Amino acid sequence: MSAAPVRTGHLIDRLPRPRGRIAADAPLAPLTWFRVGGPAEVLFRPADEEDLASFLAGVPADVPVTVVGVASNLLVRDGGVRGVVVRLPGAFGAIAVDGGTVTAGAAALDLTVARTAQEAGIAGLEFLAGIPGTIGGAVRMNGGAYGRETADALVSVVAVDRAGRRHEAPLAALGLSYRHSAFPADWIVTSAVLRGEPGAPAAIAERIEAIQQARADSQPVRARTGGSTFANPDGMKAWELIDRAGCRGLAHGGARVSEKHCNFLINEGTATAADLEALGEEVRRRVREASGVELRWEIKRIGEPLAEDAGGRA
Ligand SMILES: Cc1cc2nc3c(=O)[nH]c(=O)nc-3n(C[C@H](O)[C@H](O)[C@H](O)COP(=O)(O)OP(=O)(O)OC[C@H]3O[C@@H](n4cnc5c(N)ncnc54)[C@H](O)[C@@H]3O)c2cc1C
Repeated sequence: MSAAPVRTGHLIDRLPRPRGRIAADAPLAPLTWFRVGGPAEVLFRPADEEDLASFLAGVPADVPVTVVGVASNLLVRDGGVRGVVVRLPGAFGAIAVDGGTVTAGAAALDLTVARTAQEAGIAGLEFLAGIPGTIGGAVRMNGGAYGRETADALVSVVAVDRAGRRHEAPLAALGLSYRHSAFPADWIVTSAVLRGEPGAPAAIAERIEAIQQARADSQPVRARTGGSTFANPDGMKAWELIDRAGCRGLAHGGARVSEKHCNFLINEGTATAADLEALGEEVRRRVREASGVELRWEIKRIGEPLAEDAGGRA
C-alpha cells in the first residue's frame, strides 16, 4: 500500500486542532441545494460552541471565515471558498420548549422547529415550514414566508464572533429588515430564541400543511435551486419583472430560469456556478432594460470563480 502524499504548506497546517471535524479541500457542492461549486480550503464542523469559539480564537487573522447552513440560499462559485468554511453539525440542532418560547440550535432545520412548536401548542412559527434552511440562515437572512418573517418571532440570539467571543443579543440589536440583517458579518449564530402564542396543535398542523401545499404548487421544491434569486424591489414582485422581461425559461449552459416560478434558477444537472451566476446577471440586465429596475441578488454568492471564468461569461 502506498503512503499518503505528503502535503506541505496547506492552510490546515496553520490552524488549531479542534475537537470537531476538520478537513482540507472538502467538496462543498454536495452540501448545497444547487449542487454546484468548488471545495472549501478547510471545512470545519465544530463539536460544540466552546470548540467553535476556541478554534476561531486561534485562526490567524488573515484567514477568512465563512459560515454556511444547509446552503439553500447560497451559490458557491466553482473555484471554491478560500479560508475556513464553518458548517454547524447536528450538535447545534437541539430544540427546547419553555412555555411559549422555543430555543433552537442554529443548525436546527426550520421545518423541525415549526413542527416542534406545533406539537407543543405554540402558534406563529408555522411560516418556518415554508423555508428549507436552518435557524442560523433564517436569522441571517430574516427568512420569511406566507406573511411572516423571522423578525416577527425572534427574541434573541447567541453568536460567536471571528475572535471567538460569545455574544447574546436581543432582536432589537440585530437590524433585521426584509431578507437582510445588519448584525456584524463575522457573527456565527449558534442558537436563537423564538416566541409564539398558545394555539391548538391540530389547527397549527393544518396551517403547516397548507403552507407546504402552497409551496409545492408554486415552487420547484424538488429542483436543484437556491430559492428566490432576487429580492422583491419595493412594492414590486421580482418574478413579475422577470416574466415581463421575457426571461421565463431562459437558459445558459446547464442553468435555466424556472418555468414554474421565474424568480428561481435551476441547475438542470450539468450547470456550473458560473452558468447560474451568468444567467442571473443576464436576467438582471434584461429586467433593467425592460423596466429600468435594478434587481438585487437575494442569493448569497460566495467563493472564487475558476481562473478560466474569472473574466466573466455573459
Ligand atoms: C426551494 C427553496 C425555497 C425557498 N423559499 C424561501 C422562502 O419562502 N422564504 C425565504 O426567506 N427563503 C427561502 N429560501 C431561501 C433559503 O431557504 C433561506 O434564505 C434560508 O433561511 C437559508 O438558510 P440556510 O441554513 O440554508 O442558509 P445558507 O443558505 O447556508 O446561508 C445563507 C446566509 O446565511 C448565513 N448563515 C447561515 N448559517 C448561519 C449562522 N449559523 N450564523 C450566521 N450566518 C449564517 C450564510 O453565511 C449566508 O450568508 C428558499 C430556498 C429554496 C431552495
